[in-house]
Amino acid sequence: MHQPELVIRGRRVVTENSVGPASLHITRGYISSISIFEDVPSGCDLIEAGEGSVVMPGLVDTHVHVNEPGRTDWEGFATATRAAAAGGVTMIVDMPLNSIPATTTLVDLEAKLEAARGKCSVDVAFWGGVVPGNTAELAKMWGAGVVGFKCFLVHSGVDEFPNVSEKDLREAMPELKRLGATLIVHAELPGPIDAANAETTSFRPGTCPGAEGKAAPNPNESYAAFLRTRPRAAENEAVELMIRLSGETGCRIHIVHHSSADALPMLREAKASGVAITAESCPHYLHFAAEEIRDGATEFKCCPPIRERENREKLWEALRDGTIDMVVSDHSPCPPEMKLREQGDFMKAWGGISSLQLRLPVMWTEATQRGCTINQLAEWLCAAPARQVGLTQRKGSIRVGRDADIVIWNPEREFQVSPSLIHHRHKLTPYAGEILHGVVEKTFLRGQMVYDGAEFVSASRGQLVLRGKN
Ligand SMILES: [Zn+2]
Repeated sequence: MHQPELVIRGRRVVTENSVGPASLHITRGYISSISIFEDVPSGCDLIEAGEGSVVMPGLVDTHVHVNEPGRTDWEGFATATRAAAAGGVTMIVDMPLNSIPATTTLVDLEAKLEAARGKCSVDVAFWGGVVPGNTAELAKMWGAGVVGFKCFLVHSGVDEFPNVSEKDLREAMPELKRLGATLIVHAELPGPIDAANAETTSFRPGTCPGAEGKAAPNPNESYAAFLRTRPRAAENEAVELMIRLSGETGCRIHIVHHSSADALPMLREAKASGVAITAESCPHYLHFAAEEIRDGATEFKCCPPIRERENREKLWEALRDGTIDMVVSDHSPCPPEMKLREQGDFMKAWGGISSLQLRLPVMWTEATQRGCTINQLAEWLCAAPARQVGLTQRKGSIRVGRDADIVIWNPEREFQVSPSLIHHRHKLTPYAGEILHGVVEKTFLRGQMVYDGAEFVSASRGQLVLRGKN
């Protein structure tokens, strides 16, 4: 038994089913023992969480668009992983699109790994992509260590990552089943969106019903009009399709950024009947409500969209009863010009919200108002995402043998979101100005402090985590 090099202790240490006093002994980057608060062997470094502060597993964020290589002006591994560290996130999983190349072949994956190497402040794993015609590449990418595969059922927003049809899925899903890989799905179908758009475009500026005598505002500035172009039906029908295909092929499915409350009964029933399906939602769907979004405020645009208050409360119910398994950021940044704030044009603005750094305080602010516990929070933000990507033996919980990935944060302290605190490459965020509860005080990656509450220390210690390889 090696002497621990570090002890992290506190009065509110979050282990699997409880929160209480403990000291975590850390040896060679692992949690080597969980002991009573008083047990601090002489000669080892001691970090003590402040009165009231919580010692929790580092967050795992399985939905991050880093965009490097190719669109590093949108984000990048260095900036994304620093923002992660500042948000208590110790592992991210990079999405296979908005980088150029998109990660849809083994060669593209190698380009991604090359781009990431040496730049990361937290650990990074990778999704591969399923696009029409790349079935032969899936086994190669899986062998090289991606944690699973993503597809879109509707235009992805970038032409180099085309969406798949049911026919493409019938080719790819049996292969993924054979590999044992999960397919994660952007679940909106084009049919209901096209139908809604056809209706909306019959309105033109100046010809809106009721706009007599004065020029009507540009309907593209209206959040309500944008919301109508991404109807719940698009999600509902997509979820239905994926449940059916999972049943037929046996391929494990995960619905990303789920937003439509109407599809929850279907998901609930599918899970109960043994379909291999999980789902995530995102902080913005659980925090904002469509009724509160100002016209022209394109920083709120994402797809599927933020829906009504009533929808949000049903998402919360689903999170609490386990129909929705986890909450991840869908951090999807772009240069601020692409959000078209000047024009306020929802139809043309880039869809995506940056919140990699803010997931913990946003979720805690909402969770605490609803009487949820810190253990529930740790399940949604840490354990469930780690489980989803098969890394539960290393990440997402405070247990002996796990990586000593730890966040110390104070749930009672509050702060105001301002650009100066944001470490994403671009600071534009719909959370600007909000008062949030929960301040990250220190973040540790495999036993080394990477963020001390103000500064980044031991930079670039993040590893590239490849399935089955490290
Ligand atoms: Zn996304």
